[in-house]
Amino acid sequence: MKLNRMAERLTGAAITKYLGITPLINAGGPNTRHSGSRPRPEAIRAMEAMSEVFVQIDELLIAAGERIAELTGNEAATITSGASGGLVVQAAAAMAKDDPDRISQLPITDGMPHELIIQRGHRFIYDHLYLAAGARFVEVGSTDGCTLDEVEAAITARTAGIIHLESPFKSVGAVPLPDLADLAHSRGLPVLADCASMLPPRANLTIFTDQGADLVSFSGGKAVRGPQSTGFLIGKPEWVEYARLNNAPNPGVTRAQKVSKEEIAGLLAALEVFVDIDEEIETRHYREQMNLVVDQIAEIPGMAAEVKHNYDHYIPQAVVTFGDDWRGPSTAEIVERLKAGTPRVFAADGQGPSNTMWIDPLNLQDREVEIVVEQFRNILIEAASGR
Ligand SMILES: *Cc1c(COP(=O)(O)O)cnc(C)c1O
Repeated sequence: MKLNRMAERLTGAAITKYLGITPLINAGGPNTRHSGSRPRPEAIRAMEAMSEVFVQIDELLIAAGERIAELTGNEAATITSGASGGLVVQAAAAMAKDDPDRISQLPITDGMPHELIIQRGHRFIYDHLYLAAGARFVEVGSTDGCTLDEVEAAITARTAGIIHLESPFKSVGAVPLPDLADLAHSRGLPVLADCASMLPPRANLTIFTDQGADLVSFSGGKAVRGPQSTGFLIGKPEWVEYARLNNAPNPGVTRAQKVSKEEIAGLLAALEVFVDIDEEIETRHYREQMNLVVDQIAEIPGMAAEVKHNYDHYIPQAVVTFGDDWRGPSTAEIVERLKAGTPRVFAADGQGPSNTMWIDPLNLQDREVEIVVEQFRNILIEAASGR
């Protein structure tokens, strides 16, 4: 049997069956390990259509970047291989700018500013990407907070830029972005912001650039629902141009991060749809779906459940808190049991307090919400009875 000779219509279920793997219901949000988010049909259509033509990739990147800038209300934009790819590009741009010798010298940083200042509260699991192009961190402050003076004291002739993170559950007490940007700009340095998962709200497409960030990295494969491997950088024209020059397809340290013409068209199509969606209607729909979860779970003794929608919960999510009177296994164990079930259900844990887990509606179709609730409820009731 071969995939392209299947008698029946080619489906996701047919492909996973052919490979002998079991798909899952993704109730945990756009997590890469669980294959991100469902690309919008418009993105898939644009990808297929784009496969019909050949183009000069530089021309496509510049034109698509201009369109993304316009769509998002920014001065300039360019496309990257995920938000993580955007972090490598940010670092390379900060160090090499538009100097061709420096661009081709990276990741060897001899003779160029190569230090990136990062507040300790902004260290996070993906920050290695900033180091991939050869940069080194200078950490300032503590995980509880940082002052502007501490950042300023760390600036030297070796400094290439200052990092800023926006992410759910980040620690508090960091220097406000506008203050950080004023300081950076007074010393001729860029602020490199990672805001990968901060969409929606759509207002975030301009907030961080308005507050002074020079390059802001967003994922295209999370709630935007473009191709999983895409991302985009928005910001000041000068810095976006440095980013583009340091990015694939140009040979250099980011060459391995190429994005295909199909992916570029797919991201653009997804973003066009994303920015046009009425966020109020979208939010109401998610809230209704998550209320179903809350209603079913809150009745279980030891469980508290509520719909949360705030900085840490980018869309309404059903957050379940295991009370002090819960005698069953931990949230992590329940997440494992959900994953091991039939059907396999992936729920979110790990980011917030250890006694919480949640259901994220982004990747769920209506009938899947029902399946998830039933499975979740059964597993909790079974666990409560000591099994
Ligand atoms: C998701 C995320 C990333 C990675 O984004 P990709 O588009 O998957 O590469 C980087 N930083 C933060 C804070 C994220 O949440």
